[in-house]
Amino acid sequence: MATPIAPRSRKVRILATLGPASDTPEMIRKLVKSGADAFRINMSHGNHADHLRRIETIRSLEKELERPTTILADLQGPKLRVGKFDGDRTTLENGQSFTFDRDLAGGTGKRVNLPHREIFEAVEPGTRLLIDDGKLVLRVSSANSDRIDTTVEVGGTISNNKGLNVPDVVLPLAALTDKDRADMNFALDNNVDWIALSFVQRPEDVAEARRLIAGRASLLAKIEKPAAIDRLDGILELADAVMVARGDLGVEMLPEEVPPLQKRIVEAARRLGRPVVVATQMLESMIEAPTPTRAEVSDVATAVYDGADAIMLSAESASGKYPCESVSIMNRIATSVESDPSHSARVHFTETLPDPTTNDAIASAASNIVNTVGAAAMVCFTVSGSSARRISRERPTVPLLVLTPSLKTARRLGLLWGAHAVRTRDVASFEEMIAKAKRMALRHGIAKGGDRIVVIAGVPFGTPGSTNVVHVVRLVGDELDRHRAASS
Ligand code: PEP
Repeated sequence: MATPIAPRSRKVRILATLGPASDTPEMIRKLVKSGADAFRINMSHGNHADHLRRIETIRSLEKELERPTTILADLQGPKLRVGKFDGDRTTLENGQSFTFDRDLAGGTGKRVNLPHREIFEAVEPGTRLLIDDGKLVLRVSSANSDRIDTTVEVGGTISNNKGLNVPDVVLPLAALTDKDRADMNFALDNNVDWIALSFVQRPEDVAEARRLIAGRASLLAKIEKPAAIDRLDGILELADAVMVARGDLGVEMLPEEVPPLQKRIVEAARRLGRPVVVATQMLESMIEAPTPTRAEVSDVATAVYDGADAIMLSAESASGKYPCESVSIMNRIATSVESDPSHSARVHFTETLPDPTTNDAIASAASNIVNTVGAAAMVCFTVSGSSARRISRERPTVPLLVLTPSLKTARRLGLLWGAHAVRTRDVASFEEMIAKAKRMALRHGIAKGGDRIVVIAGVPFGTPGSTNVVHVVRLVGDELDRHRAASS
């Protein structure tokens, strides 16, 4: 049996996508040991049997490594695709006319089937249709319920079922397709911790998914459409977390518009205390090469300096040649940035004003106390995870150990900046709480004899939403010896 791995001192979390390059138990174990805190199962690829195997492997490693591990199931969402062509492909020239229609016959150089009725109703003259991740650009000249006539602005080869983006309009598409519903039920039945919703356009999409999830998992909204940017605040209110999904965002918007949007989304999410994941092409060249480009290193570093909760690997870990190296390098970049003396000041560039709630007041007071008394660590008791989220939002300067009786909560906290969650038995009294906080701080190596720690809890114990205690306690010099003696 492997030994449990020590808490990570790194604050930002690493979310690694699993796929054919990384789904054996040996590989997933190596990814965890290299620094992966959470895994993304991408429902756009593979089948339920593949996904189940991955989920079961993670759960059994979780026991072996004694580390709650977060699983996020990423739904494909209403991804639009063109129909099929006679001969599988055609080439469109700049300036030519091209038509999308409802005819199921194979496509030609003049027309192709578009199997999404909603688009015919939504587009108007001037609307852009982007094909194959924006490589081809067509502009609508006229449209009715049966055909859309366009002029090709940027031509190229178009082949069967290529993806289509319509960034200029809010499409009357359901937030979840039939496939998404089936995938979501599968994921919830197999106890994933987070569901990611793709191509969110409006807060109502998040509300609909939330209703279906019914508390069985947390909900992450992927921000990848201009319409979602327009409604960002409403989406952030309803989601548990967001992702800056730069792949599709960079197709729907100009690439140069993405960096300012990334800053805006990260800052807005942090202000509201919603975990935010920065995703896609972070170490893209490592799909093929064992080392990243300097620009990729800088991109990862920027997300860490901005205080994102998590940084994500996609094809690098799912289908690339160097999954472990990608996680390892991400880990090294994050660790280097977090050891930069200017990191803390940079991360605290944004002010997070507490909401007028006891939870927020306690979280913000506790962070101030840490700095005033020079505490070595924070220990937070939580049932639902909500106090840990509020503390993490403050981006504390010291390690945060989260103790919870709920394995579900511990797993869900794996996307949260700086939180090291451990499942423990609940406490019954104040004295027990303090004793446990000291013991666990020592056991997890986040404080030593002579250090002060700040303990945050709620009384009555075990009641969600009851956070109302901050207690400062000093670990006496021989506490570690006594702890060792007691546990030997
Ligand atoms: C993205 O578009 O950046 C993204 C994360 O989504 P996916 O990988 O599912 O396309």
